[in-house]
Amino acid sequence: MHKGGEILLAGLVGRGIALSRTPAMHMAEGEAQGLHAAYRLLDADRLSQPLPALLDAAEMMGFNGLNVTYPFKIDVLPLLDELSVNASAVGAVNTVAFRNGRRFGHNTDLWGFAEGFRRGLPDAARDHVLLLGAGGAGVAVAHALAGLGVAQLSIFDTDAQRAGALAEQVSAGGPGCDAVAVSDVAGLIRAARPDGVVNATPMGMAKLPGTALDIGLLQPSMWVADIVYFPLETELLRAARALGCRVLPGSGMAVFQAVRAFELFTGRAADPSRMKATFDAFDRPGDATQDTKI
Ligand code: NAD
Repeated sequence: MHKGGEILLAGLVGRGIALSRTPAMHMAEGEAQGLHAAYRLLDADRLSQPLPALLDAAEMMGFNGLNVTYPFKIDVLPLLDELSVNASAVGAVNTVAFRNGRRFGHNTDLWGFAEGFRRGLPDAARDHVLLLGAGGAGVAVAHALAGLGVAQLSIFDTDAQRAGALAEQVSAGGPGCDAVAVSDVAGLIRAARPDGVVNATPMGMAKLPGTALDIGLLQPSMWVADIVYFPLETELLRAARALGCRVLPGSGMAVFQAVRAFELFTGRAADPSRMKATFDAFDRPGDATQDTKI
C-alpha cells in the first residue's frame, strides 16, 4: 500500500486510445512532483476484457483511479458507488477514483471546459450562447455553460432529438439556465445575436475538415470557442479570429480535465502550465496525433 500521494498509479480505459495525450500529461506531472508515476492504457480493443473486469483489475492492483473515455463514459455508471454532483448532472463519468474499497465517479470534462473558459475568456458576455453539438462532449459543455452563468442556451445538433433531450436536461437542472433546441441557426443568429458560440461537434478535426457553423454568420462581437483540439486552430477559429472575434481553442478543456483528474487521483494540486506544456509537445512536428480521445 502506498502512503497518500507518494505514487501515481492510474490508467485510461477506452477503445482506440493508443495516441491519447492523457497518459503523458499525468506521467510528466507525477514525475515533476517526485511521485513514482505509472499510467497504463487499458485498451479494451487489445485486452478483450469487459469493462467490469478492467475496473476490478485496476482496483485490485491498487490503482489510485482511472480515466474513462469512449465508449465507456455511460457504461461505467452502474459499476460505481458514488457520483459527484457534476457526474450526476451530466450522466457520464470520465474519472474514477478508488478510495477505501469504494469507487467515486467524476466528470472532469465539465470542470475542464468551465476552467478553460474562465481563464481563456474572462469577462466574456454569456447571457445567450449557441452550442453546436449535443453528443458526449456537448452534454458536459452544456452543463458547464449553465454553471458559468449562461442564462439562455440555444442548442443545435443535426440529430434534433439529441439537441432536444439535452435542452430538457439542462433546463431541468436548475432555474438559472433556459436551454432550448434550435433548428434554424442562421435565423437565430440574425434575430437573437448570441454573445458566443461553442463548437462541440467533431467538425474541424483534421480528419473532418469544415465547420458546423456557416462562417458567414459570424459577427465580430461574438466570442467563439471550439473543443476540437487537433488542429488547435480549426477552420472556425481561424475565420473567427480573422473577423476580430475573441476565440478559445480546445486545449483548455483537454488540459484542465486532466488537471482535475490528477488532483482526484493523488490529492495533490497539479500545475496546469506544466500539464499544458506536455499537451503542447504533441503538436511539435513529428509528434502530431489525430486521435479523438484525450
Ligand atoms: P459525439 O460523436 O458523441 O457527438 C458529436 C455530436 O455532434 C453528435 O450529436 C452529432 O450529431 C453532432 N454533429 C455532428 N456534425 C454536426 C454538425 N455539422 N452540426 C451540428 N451537429 C453536428 O462526439 P463527442 O465525444 O461529443 O466529441 C465531439 C468533438 O469534441 C470531437 O472532435 C472530440 O475530439 C472533441 N472533444 C474534445 C475534448 C476536449 O477536451 N477538448 C473532449 C471531448 C471531446
